[in-house]
Amino acid sequence: MADQDLDRIREFAKTLRVPHGTRVKLPRDYDPDDTQGLKEKDAAELLSRGIELLSDYQARLAAQDTQALLVIIQAIDAAGKDGTIRHVMSGVNPQGVRVSPFKVPSAEEMDHDFMWRYQKALPARGMIGIFNRSYYEELLVVRVHPSILDGQKLPPDRKNTGIWTRRFRQINDWEAYLVDQGTTIVKLFLNLSKEEQRRRFLARIDEPDKNWKFSAADVKERAHWDAYQAAFGDVLSRSSTAAAPWHVIPADNKWFARLAAAGIIADALIRMDPQFPEVSGEARDALLAARVELLAEDPGARSLASGRSGPDDGDGKGRKASAKKGKGRRKGK
Ligand code: ATP
Ligand code: MG
Repeated sequence: MADQDLDRIREFAKTLRVPHGTRVKLPRDYDPDDTQGLKEKDAAELLSRGIELLSDYQARLAAQDTQALLVIIQAIDAAGKDGTIRHVMSGVNPQGVRVSPFKVPSAEEMDHDFMWRYQKALPARGMIGIFNRSYYEELLVVRVHPSILDGQKLPPDRKNTGIWTRRFRQINDWEAYLVDQGTTIVKLFLNLSKEEQRRRFLARIDEPDKNWKFSAADVKERAHWDAYQAAFGDVLSRSSTAAAPWHVIPADNKWFARLAAAGIIADALIRMDPQFPEVSGEARDALLAARVELLAEDPGARSLASGRSGPDDGDGKGRKASAKKGKGRRKGK
């Protein structure tokens, strides 16, 4: 990859990061329509490079098996969480990634502390975990609808006025702990404008193949737009820590949001710098011994095992043919 493409992809992590201690007010501080001067036609090439990069680094992360990456995606309805996850992770080995969507908590989940269900879904070492919504809902939907808190089975004296401050502290401490344990946390807020949400809801109604995505509840929730903007602003202001900063991704243009998300995740992986484990001298000897043994099974390739070039060099057809012969002989025994 050309250095300037790599720099461009990684730059989103810098330009979209919320510096620790910033007081954020939405929609005043961030423009959901911004594309940093990029055009859609230039983005496709950059995105495919970003996806390649993610694939390469995911393989190293898995092989290294000491670090984990947790990507948290929060957004208002129709901001494009699902599409972003699908596109950004399209090149990555599915065995190395686990996407966990978090909906309204179940009765069993409500019987535990609020972190319980998220703790269980954390990525293991070597893995990438994606939280499609997360424990931040405890400071978003629960704050916008205090009746949800009433329904939580906390002891009554724990629901007092300091609860949001305590939750921020608990979340910030928990994230710092996870980072210290080897999990890098990337937090992405897809910042959609109210007008673009309206357009997307209308498209879900007007286009038959998008009808399934439409939910009347989403339109009801839109009535609380200002309360959500205030809650998101507070989340960005109080939980963008040095250990686990937030990034605000302008989401009115899906192509830009996907590119920026890929760039930020790629930058995190590059900084994690996972390496394929080095093979020790002893293990190397075992590899070489196994190689000799495997090559010896193929009579046509014996010459390769001894380092000489043989008649099978080239398209490999000769090796295949003789391997078939060999197999036939063994069967015939
Ligand atoms: P999609 O609509 O694309 O399927 P979604 O994430 O919007 O994805 P929904 O089932 O529509 O999924 O909505 C999930 C709902 O669960 C959201 O309204 C969200 O606010 C709510 N939710 C998530 N976590 C909590 C929580 N801890 N407490 C209460 N509600 C929550
Ligand atoms: Mg929904």
